[in-house]
Amino acid sequence: MLISFEGSEGSGKTTQIARLVKRLEKLGHEIVTTREPGGTKIGEQVRDILLHTTNSSDKMFAETELLLFAAARAQIVREVIAPALLRGAVVLSDRYLDSSTVYQGIARNLGSDPVNEINRFAIGTVMPDVTVVIDVPTKVSIERISKRKGTKPDRIERENIDFYEKVRAGYLVLAKGMPGRFVVVNGTKSAAAIEKEIWSALLKRVFK
Ligand code: C5P
Ligand code: MG
Repeated sequence: MLISFEGSEGSGKTTQIARLVKRLEKLGHEIVTTREPGGTKIGEQVRDILLHTTNSSDKMFAETELLLFAAARAQIVREVIAPALLRGAVVLSDRYLDSSTVYQGIARNLGSDPVNEINRFAIGTVMPDVTVVIDVPTKVSIERISKRKGTKPDRIERENIDFYEKVRAGYLVLAKGMPGRFVVVNGTKSAAAIEKEIWSALLKRVFK
């Protein structure tokens, strides 16, 4: 079982994954959590390149960015996700292919054809069973990130609001087009309320 979590920075993906891990562990499942970009030694090196570029004057082209995210994904799928799924574990992924569809395909305007093709090449057949999108208004997302201290510097200062509006709208359009895979939750509620909402959606869909 592969469950991916998507949404803008500051939407609460990491928090909700941690909460879900606790619930699933109580039920006796083996849980594997992964994050993108990163999650493997090679993937973390790719993450460093991506984040370094965010914070320096080096310009990374959108095409390069797409391929680097895909490279990290190709590695984590083969090194971590596919073997875990084979063992019967539940894998919770902090971002997955839909991040590329939205950030590079939509917000960076590369278009859906190249992104879909590269996503497919990177992940093979390892598609999420469920994708949870945590939706927050861009203003809230930006406020939350600005308050984060000591964490990796985000790209928030480099991008304009419009970029994040495209990310948010992109996720909503994607979710609407694939209601069988996507669950959208309102990320402005309390963490406990969101947790409940995610859990009841998962109970209906996968943990029957
Ligand atoms: O919030 P998180 O740690 O998941 O974000 C990682 C960074 O990578 C964020 O700044 C996000 O905007 C960026 N990202 C991206 N394209 C992707 C996935 C993440 O630009 N496909
Ligand atoms: Mg996070």
